[in-house]
Amino acid sequence: MFNLVIFGPPGAGKGTQSAKIIEKYKLAHISTGDMFRMHISQDTALGKKVKEILAEGMLVPDSVTIDMLEEEVNNQKEVTGFIFDGFPRTIAQAEALDSFLEGKKEKINLVIQLMVTEEEIKARIAERKKTSGRADDDEIKLIKRIEEYFQKTVHVLPYYEKQGKLKQIQGIGEIEAIFEDIVRVMDEQLLP
Ligand code: AMP
Repeated sequence: MFNLVIFGPPGAGKGTQSAKIIEKYKLAHISTGDMFRMHISQDTALGKKVKEILAEGMLVPDSVTIDMLEEEVNNQKEVTGFIFDGFPRTIAQAEALDSFLEGKKEKINLVIQLMVTEEEIKARIAERKKTSGRADDDEIKLIKRIEEYFQKTVHVLPYYEKQGKLKQIQGIGEIEAIFEDIVRVMDEQLLP
């Protein structure tokens, strides 16, 4: 199995690059954000619990997120690996993921960080707003999520750096050029 974690703030192109990675390497996509949104749209008990938290752009408690993720991974049979997108966002989640995978004789092989600064992301959003005229309310929530990333999620990166698994890739530029960089670091790990 090959297990990849992809990091990057909202708006860094994580979704686009994840889709391309999945297509090329046939990994199963695990996006905790997508899973929460699905629970909300289906109005499940979990959906009811997290609806407000997502609306505010805050983080869902670790225990809730970890349980949901582990169940999803356990449900995916006969896959060649996973791409974890939006998880882990805290050290507790990263530690839980490591011990969960260890229990399956698996591990995280590689962590890719799409490098974009807070200023660049905010400038992109301001630019996008000029053309799309997004509602201000949405913009406030998006900025809250970006700040959540730079204040909390980035603290997970040293955890993987210490394990020698972190690769940083410039997240500003052409989609294809960024993807080529990702393919290069992935193939370094995958090819003998
Ligand atoms: P995303 O689509 O990954 O940006 O996630 C959307 C929202 O879901 C986040 O703003 C959080 O409220 C929640 N969420 C997703 N993943 C996590 C996680 N690993 N830990 C806590 N909350 C999460």
